[in-house]
Amino acid sequence: MSVTNLHLHTSTKKAEHPIAQLVSAVRQHFTLGLSKDYQWRVNQLKRLRLMVVENQDKLASALYEDLGKGEVESWTSEIGFVISDIDHTIKHLKGWMKPRRVSTPIVAQPGKSYILPEPLGTVLIIGAWNYPFQLVVAPLIAAIAAGNHAIIKPSELSQSTSALLKMLLPKYLDDNAFAVVEGAVEETQILLAQKFDHIIYTGGEKVGKIVMRAASEHLTPVTLELGGKSPCIVDKHIDIEVTAKRIVWAKWMNAGQTCVAPDYVLADAAIAGALQEALKKAVQECYGVEPKKSKDYGRIVNKRHYERLVGYLENQNVIFGGDVDPVNRYISPTIIREPSLHSSVMQEEIFGPILPIVTYDNLADAITFVNERAKPLSLYLFTHKSDVEKKVLQQTSSGSACVNDGFMFMVNPDLPFGGVGNSGMGAYHGKTGFDTFSHLKSVMSRKFWLDVPLRYPPFNRFKFTW
Ligand code: NAD
Repeated sequence: MSVTNLHLHTSTKKAEHPIAQLVSAVRQHFTLGLSKDYQWRVNQLKRLRLMVVENQDKLASALYEDLGKGEVESWTSEIGFVISDIDHTIKHLKGWMKPRRVSTPIVAQPGKSYILPEPLGTVLIIGAWNYPFQLVVAPLIAAIAAGNHAIIKPSELSQSTSALLKMLLPKYLDDNAFAVVEGAVEETQILLAQKFDHIIYTGGEKVGKIVMRAASEHLTPVTLELGGKSPCIVDKHIDIEVTAKRIVWAKWMNAGQTCVAPDYVLADAAIAGALQEALKKAVQECYGVEPKKSKDYGRIVNKRHYERLVGYLENQNVIFGGDVDPVNRYISPTIIREPSLHSSVMQEEIFGPILPIVTYDNLADAITFVNERAKPLSLYLFTHKSDVEKKVLQQTSSGSACVNDGFMFMVNPDLPFGGVGNSGMGAYHGKTGFDTFSHLKSVMSRKFWLDVPLRYPPFNRFKFTW
């Protein structure tokens, strides 16, 4: 059997699985080139917007079923977030698609040089369960904008949102170009065995490695949006009440199940006690004395994660909260002080409503603490002092950083969003997302006139002196 036949035989065999057939059909349709058209992209984005607007109640219910997400939180972090992302993308798309002129050196004159963004092809989007709608639809917006087709694999852990997406998407978008594949490990692995032109994966580090390994088989580029322990450094020069409120906002949104949530606080010893009290007060102001009754406080996604989080509390100095209810998978906003640095809560990403406070005596120690660990997805710093801000930003590395707030950088589409080191690779949001899902083709276009003979061999025709 020849190599060609062998190849054909293998691909026929792969195409037998319905998922493989689907991927192959979507890829085949891409070759028609319809998605290269500006108007096609805009139409798809408008249809996607309509899907979100017309079904926002259904989406909010699905998010509530999956994570107990309150209406306001569902709007700000998922539904409204996606709508404003679409609006921003439509507004700027024409400009992003334009050839980007660059200068041409004298040796290449007469000529012009430019960068021409072109679609990659068919993209695989694998999402996580914590923002189950936003984390697949925001990459989809960028993929459509860049002229790609896409297969979306929502997380099986957020089943209601996954099922709703599967039902809605084909009703609104071109189903030759976009499809949702539901499922868990088996389905994802079948998807990963197929050839894609880009894979964006959001989730944990362990599966990130599986995705990257599978992608390498096809030399498919990957964007990995992973997690990690995002530190929150609190200097002594702060407005303590505002600091506490903003930490509470960022930590306990979605019951702490946010990739960019402050994982732990590193507090200057001079204010650690006062900060602890201010945090307790701010939690009560936001969620009441019984957060279980608050419409704005979420639940843990499943039993496994609930048990993992409850396990973190064993043998810890719980100074606030610690109320748990396995039936509702409820864990109250919980603060622990000075955990052992070897305990699981300080070794693993918490990804839940538990906030450890570790104190430091001087800023250099806090910086060393951060630098001794894997590069985080985000870093938070609270301080009035510009020299402290400069020092921390210059001496640490993180995917993003925010000074004097939680993850407010997420609201700015002009800021790329992505990790560094173990917290991920590549980025998206706004124009960065468009570029991520585009090939930036370098083009030089020359004229026939002025053909300098010096460039052509044989060079011994000339007497060069160097
Ligand atoms: P998850 O369990 O939902 O898994 C993510 C995806 O991987 C799912 O679609 C799932 O089906 C798939 N998957 C799981 N196991 C697999 C396997 N063995 N082979 C192939 N595919 C598999 O999500 P998770 O991993 O629990 O997500 C939590 C992590 O994601 C945290 O670390 C968090 O910080 C990170 N996260 C990062 C971002 C970001 O934007 N950087 C956003 C949200 C979550």
